Amino acid sequence: MSFNLQEIRKDFPILDQSVNGRPWVYFDNAATAQRPRVVIEKMDEFSLLTNANIHRGTHAHAIRTTEAYEASRDRVKEFLHAENREEIIFTSGTTASINLVARSFSEKFLAEGDEIIVTEMEHHANIVPWQMACARQKAHLRVIPFSDAGDLQLELLEGLLSSRTKLIAVAHVSNTLGTINPVKEIIAKAHEQGIPVLIDGAQSVPHLAVDVQDLDCDFYVFSGHKIYGPTGIGVLYGKKVWLEAMPPFLGGGEMIDRVTFEKTTYNELPHKFEAGTPHYVGAIALGTAIDYLNRIGLEAAAKQEHELLVYATQRMKELGNVRIFGESANKTGVICFEIDEIHPFDLGTLLDQLGIAVRTGRLCADPVMDHFGVSAMTRASFSFYNSREEVDQFISALKRIRSMF
Ligand code: PMP
Repeated sequence: MSFNLQEIRKDFPILDQSVNGRPWVYFDNAATAQRPRVVIEKMDEFSLLTNANIHRGTHAHAIRTTEAYEASRDRVKEFLHAENREEIIFTSGTTASINLVARSFSEKFLAEGDEIIVTEMEHHANIVPWQMACARQKAHLRVIPFSDAGDLQLELLEGLLSSRTKLIAVAHVSNTLGTINPVKEIIAKAHEQGIPVLIDGAQSVPHLAVDVQDLDCDFYVFSGHKIYGPTGIGVLYGKKVWLEAMPPFLGGGEMIDRVTFEKTTYNELPHKFEAGTPHYVGAIALGTAIDYLNRIGLEAAAKQEHELLVYATQRMKELGNVRIFGESANKTGVICFEIDEIHPFDLGTLLDQLGIAVRTGRLCADPVMDHFGVSAMTRASFSFYNSREEVDQFISALKRIRSMF
């Protein structure tokens, strides 16, 4: 499909509206992406016309929902280029996927005195579950720092690795700095010492083609709502050898083989990790979102986002007295910044008055705030459906706000 921005924007009815009397500019895509009409329609279809719990019925609707849910698993498998469909577990999102691994993996493989390595640029969702696991098992968290430019200081990784290291958890793309981390290199280094690696793909799957077999990662996690799908649905990819060795996380229906009061045996993968009624409407619509993104083409999407990143960065620098946090040569369309030391909450509120939605605050990344010695940041993040004209509107708004202070 050729990239026609005007046509693409028609797929997103939400973008065509005014906020505070101005055309709405949505630059908060790293927090959640908007959904195209086909995804919304799929969710409606599986509420208005078809609904029954999955894996449990022999009637027509139960068969339809079950088949659609399992077909979606196949779509995710292809999207990540996983070897087996059993390696795709549906969860409620990235946070739930990381917590599942942190709980289940650590219960079996993390012991007193062991270590888990994360990076300084992680989202809280890829820090706190590991801290909790370390607290439970009396293990320790180690941290790979990043440079002021926003690149991981990988030369320090060697010194952190030891026979006590049990897992490395790292973001493929940072939600604040936008840095695309060299995860393949990290995985290769870790594997030399037999250490598994979990990749937080929340910010990468909307922008980069991911091939879990080529990366050779042990776990890869992402959320549906960041790739134009529904909220409340996400994915955990795990290599079969790990998922088979790990104990179940939640107990309940679907994850069992046979229950007696004396002994319960567990279901096979992937069901072993899918206790209870899942958000099957969300999982089905996630498959539709993946189809949609594939039709746009990840390469075309990334090209448009990169152009917006370059254009917006250049225009912001022309304004003067703008501090950009994270200027890796390898980054996605995310710009965290500060202008004239205007507080991000004031800036975010005033931008909203001018029709522009950005994210402000600590961005679920306190260590990144601490690194730069700021209490909060403002973040503009782009999607392929954004335009240069919207960047122009954003720059005009920044100029106007600056003149007010
Ligand atoms: N990791 C990263 C890098 C993220 O950007 C986010 C979402 N901001 C998360 C994890 C958590 O995702 P969710 O809230 O969808 O579970």
